[in-house]
Amino acid sequence: MKTTLDIIPITEWFSGFNHPLLIAGPCSAESEEQVLATARGIAKTGKVKVFRVGIWKPRSRPGTFEGAGNEALNWLKRVKEETGLLTTVEVATPAHVDMAINAGIDILWVGARTSANPFSIEQIAYALNGIDIPIMVKNPVNPDLELWIGALERLNRAGIKRLAAIHRGFYPYEKTRLRNIPKWELAIDLKSKFPNLPILCDPSHIAGQALLVPEIAQKALNLSLDGLMVEVHCNPSVALSDAKQQITPAQFDSMLNGLVFRSPSSTNNEFVDKLEQFRNKIDSIDQQMIELLGQRMRIVEEIGEYKKQNNVSVFQLYRWENILKSRVEYGERLGLDVEYIKNLLQLVHNESIRKQADILNRKDILSRE
Ligand code: PEP
Ligand code: MN
Repeated sequence: MKTTLDIIPITEWFSGFNHPLLIAGPCSAESEEQVLATARGIAKTGKVKVFRVGIWKPRSRPGTFEGAGNEALNWLKRVKEETGLLTTVEVATPAHVDMAINAGIDILWVGARTSANPFSIEQIAYALNGIDIPIMVKNPVNPDLELWIGALERLNRAGIKRLAAIHRGFYPYEKTRLRNIPKWELAIDLKSKFPNLPILCDPSHIAGQALLVPEIAQKALNLSLDGLMVEVHCNPSVALSDAKQQITPAQFDSMLNGLVFRSPSSTNNEFVDKLEQFRNKIDSIDQQMIELLGQRMRIVEEIGEYKKQNNVSVFQLYRWENILKSRVEYGERLGLDVEYIKNLLQLVHNESIRKQADILNRKDILSRE
């Protein structure tokens, strides 16, 4: 299904907005002091236009800190008065929308757990009908581009033209280096489908740890994304949510000074050229392939230990034949050459055998004693 989005460029959302747009603030509002101290630190960088904070927190598990709630809306009024920063909060229900708008919040955003649910988006869109406020839509937790587009379309149909997407990565079931797999290819595909749609990156939720935030932020800038939303906290070590990934205002400032900002191309905000887009997609897919090979190898090692304990031989012909047959068939259905798949599997299998043989031959120190 092909559609277009009726969009106002992000540089025209408010006067003084530049490209790329920088948004920063704590994961959660915890106290008036924490919100104001963080906002002052962020304002001091002189580079940020918008202060973000979660006041109603959608936590995966109950019983964790669920945000300061409505009271924090007053703290945001003070942030705005004192620092001149615009404010943005996450909304997940029509009641949040009403309260945020009544409190003078400038921009709303929809979180990853909400954008995954068309019913919720429909209700938010209904609540917004006729109201002119900018909205940013985070990608759904699952890598479903249609769902992400659907959320953007629903809001656009409700008349929201100051609309942007935020790429925050996708939930990996297995443990990976990053908290959320970036799958940059999805952001690239979204940009290719809707070249006029601003896409920001949230490097904090992709990284999951403070040290990796600059690397992800740089990658987003290299892809010419339209801005960054970074989690910044005046004292991350005592943060009540996402403590590991938040950085201090000072760290944030030095990160900004270290980032290389690509100058926007002369021809109307053009996205990175086609060849670079393809290469970025390949890079992202290769990284995922390697992560998967790593995950596969961890399981191979566990099987090795199990075989050792149960005195089972490493190589089992029927299993190998089965692997070969099923994978070749699967590959063929995807248009991959039979020899190519066979060679690849042989390589993967050989390494598994070598690893398991290592485990079986390992002299157990305890059993020797
Ligand atoms: C957040 O921005 O703090 C947040 C909850 O993010 P996400 O919806 O991307 O998980
Ligand atoms: Mn967070």
